[in-house]
Amino acid sequence: QFPFGRRLPCDIYWHGVSFHDNNIFSGQVNKFPGMMETVRKITLSRAMRTMQDLFPLEYNFYPRSWILPEELPLFVAEVRMMKDSHPSWKPTFIVKPDGGCQGDGIYLIKDPSDIRLTGSIQSRPAVVQEYICKPLLVDKLKFDIRLYVLLKSLEPLEIYIAKDGLSRFCTEPYQEPTLKNLHQVFMHLTNYSLNIHSGNFIHSASVNTGSKRTFSSILCRLSSRGADVKKLWSDIISLVIKTIIALTPELKVYYQSDIPAGKPGPTCFQILGFDILLMKNLKPVLLEVNANPSMRIEHEQELSPGVFENVPSPVDEEVKVAVIRDTLRLVDPQKKKRKDTQLGWVTPEVLPQLSPCAAVCCRCQSSGQAPGASEEVPDAAPGPEAALPSLCLKQVFPKYAKHFSYLRLVDRVAALFIRFLGVKGTTKLGPTGFRTFIRNCKLSNSNFSMAAVDILYIDITRRWNSMGIDHKESGMCLQAFVEAFFCLAQRKYKSRPLHEQVASLIELCECRLAALRGKRLVWGCG
Ligand code: ADP
Repeated sequence: QFPFGRRLPCDIYWHGVSFHDNNIFSGQVNKFPGMMETVRKITLSRAMRTMQDLFPLEYNFYPRSWILPEELPLFVAEVRMMKDSHPSWKPTFIVKPDGGCQGDGIYLIKDPSDIRLTGSIQSRPAVVQEYICKPLLVDKLKFDIRLYVLLKSLEPLEIYIAKDGLSRFCTEPYQEPTLKNLHQVFMHLTNYSLNIHSGNFIHSASVNTGSKRTFSSILCRLSSRGADVKKLWSDIISLVIKTIIALTPELKVYYQSDIPAGKPGPTCFQILGFDILLMKNLKPVLLEVNANPSMRIEHEQELSPGVFENVPSPVDEEVKVAVIRDTLRLVDPQKKKRKDTQLGWVTPEVLPQLSPCAAVCCRCQSSGQAPGASEEVPDAAPGPEAALPSLCLKQVFPKYAKHFSYLRLVDRVAALFIRFLGVKGTTKLGPTGFRTFIRNCKLSNSNFSMAAVDILYIDITRRWNSMGIDHKESGMCLQAFVEAFFCLAQRKYKSRPLHEQVASLIELCECRLAALRGKRLVWGCG
């Protein structure tokens, strides 16, 4: 700990909350610039909406969501339309304040007219989301899963998933939402921080009992009931990869702004907490992504009224210690050096193509061996690591890249955006940058004049800036650019699915920019 500042450069910097290192030029930092902003409820919902517009089936693991207050009329209209066309549909919605956590300010409603508009929505925007009414129950209780995911690198994309996580239980038996039970938080919200205050909360003495258990213990139960846990794991891996693919464009914009390419700076990695709900039919649903998941391995116990003591929590310890230990092993700077001289550590080539569930389930039968132990290749390098348990973090990207790369369209749009940002250190595109983009990609013609380009820029930018959270900079943010890009793609390639229109326009732009670059090189030589 350096409470009064650091004197010497470090190999690894471990911050408690967010990235704030403008004055370091080497090493690795455990936070990405802009991650907190990128995973806020509203920003995440927007990023998921963009992906749902492009790939509706692939992104149906995220509940239908609307952003308040700006989409309130849309929410009301869409719900009315759906109710009219499906009279038996009796939905419930969950309203979650943006930037909230631990269940703070969350409430359930049956009808859009129940949204509490007085004051708070204007001052504190929120997301309203379709409520999953039929979650999977264990011991008649609703629970969610906290999975730890290591984003080891953004470029190239490297993602690891911990083979075990936490299952956090409600403390009142679950009933489908009715007007009578909507307000019962111990029945509907799985937050540990809420349920700990219920008289029914049971501190877990082992990994498979109580109000917080390991995910692997749930999988064992499901497996013994004949559930296809292998498929479940593969759905979860796919959910995690697709979610990170949705987040990377925004993260890259922040990254180039804080750590400009070509200048000395640190590299980043980050442990994220994924909150996932399982539906009754075992389909995983993403609830949220946490940039700062709690790494506490003890809990507070009330000894006598008002007197608390911290006691170890075996479930937290089992899962979290392994995640931090393996993260440090994966980012170990010494490892890099050793890798140069020895054949690799855990590389995608040497890992057999096994799904992690096979490994998790071996816990059921065998000793206390960590899940997946048999699956990993032991460290080739002798040394202190040899004595450590094998990795609990499993690489899923680039390992499964070929199944998901076609989804990375917005990443390529973001690359175009970043290219025209001009002065490093910004996250917004000015009107000149936008015009240069249009001109260099030759997108303007007699049907689409430069005056029309300016109007498109002004319209979209103004709308995004009026609802944006970030008013610090003026100009076009990435999401606004993506919207403009989709508009251009739809104009140019009519009556095709949106993802094809966007892919075609990206290819055209990339091609024209490559040709321009070629020309400039030739002129340079001349
Ligand atoms: P917070 O950051 O405040 O914890 P979450 O989005 O995680 O907010 O929601 C809190 C809890 O509410 C979740 O842990 C889950 O139990 C429940 N929940 C959230 N969204 C949904 C949903 N769409 N359907 C069903 N339950 C949900």
